[in-house]
Amino acid sequence: MDEKLLKECICPMCPSYVKCNESLGYCLPGIPTSRCIKSELGCLCPGCPVQEKMGYTKDYYCIRKD
Ligand code: SF4
Ligand code: SF4
Repeated sequence: MDEKLLKECICPMCPSYVKCNESLGYCLPGIPTSRCIKSELGCLCPGCPVQEKMGYTKDYYCIRKD
């Protein structure tokens, strides 16, 4: 896993975010959805630098990964 990318994840600033003992970077391969985040109260992924670098276009990766 790219630790530099993980540090750029802005999930902790998100209104839906729930602090949990688990990895950030929910959008990244190998990172599962959150065990703690359950409610969609807004998502910052569309403005995240990781999203842009990876060429991703979705949101709410913490809750749903296709
Ligand atoms: S796109 Fe979303 S889940 Fe992925 S690193 Fe950014 S804020 Fe975190
Ligand atoms: S994946 Fe999106 S909704 Fe979930 S915590 Fe990160 S920014 Fe918020």
